[in-house]
Amino acid sequence: MNYAFEPAPQASMAIADSENRIPVRRIFCVGRNYAAHAREMGKDPDRDPPFFFTKPADAVVETGQTIPYPPLTENFHYEAELIVVIGKGGRNIAEEDSLDHIWGYAVGNDLTRRDLQLEAREKGRPWDWGKAFDKSAIIGPVHPVGKAGHPSSGSIKLTVNGETKQDADLNELIWSVPEIVSILSHSMEIAPGDVIMTGTPAGVGPLVEGDTCVVAIEGLGEIETKIGARL
Ligand code: MN
Repeated sequence: MNYAFEPAPQASMAIADSENRIPVRRIFCVGRNYAAHAREMGKDPDRDPPFFFTKPADAVVETGQTIPYPPLTENFHYEAELIVVIGKGGRNIAEEDSLDHIWGYAVGNDLTRRDLQLEAREKGRPWDWGKAFDKSAIIGPVHPVGKAGHPSSGSIKLTVNGETKQDADLNELIWSVPEIVSILSHSMEIAPGDVIMTGTPAGVGPLVEGDTCVVAIEGLGEIETKIGARL
């Protein structure tokens, strides 16, 4: 059997202090997982079950890249997020077992066409056009659990052109990492290479052409993205 044309290259992420890379399988993103961000989006922060949306694996972009200002939006937003990388698959994973399924952690930026996301929300349409566009998942080098442990607290910060826009602590997550992994695994079988973007704190806002956006998480380093000209 031959393919009719070359398959796309495998999307992958860097590993901190290593030449090896992690193949990306799927990207799951948690909506509204910090109370103050839920409020700024006009929603009650509560313990309703978390909801997820997805991005394609090849939306992944490394730190240090310039990405074009995406099409169809006039309100292109940053979202600082803790990234969880799954190393061992499974289904119906108990919360107390879920940390065993994590390979490592990274710093991420869930880029969002906010105007399209809000329009979809209002009209009861899918979020894909607001969230799952090209180059919409900035993910830094992945730190293995053996070195980084399982960060459950620590600073998460985002700056635009050096000005602080988001400044929170990982301990403010409404749904913790073990809870998220367990809940996701009851919805579908998770697999090595699956990536979870765990939600953003308050302070989301726009990026424009020429901006430099830096996200930092205590113990996981920082990622930097420049916004280039419109496509
Ligand atoms: Mn997000």
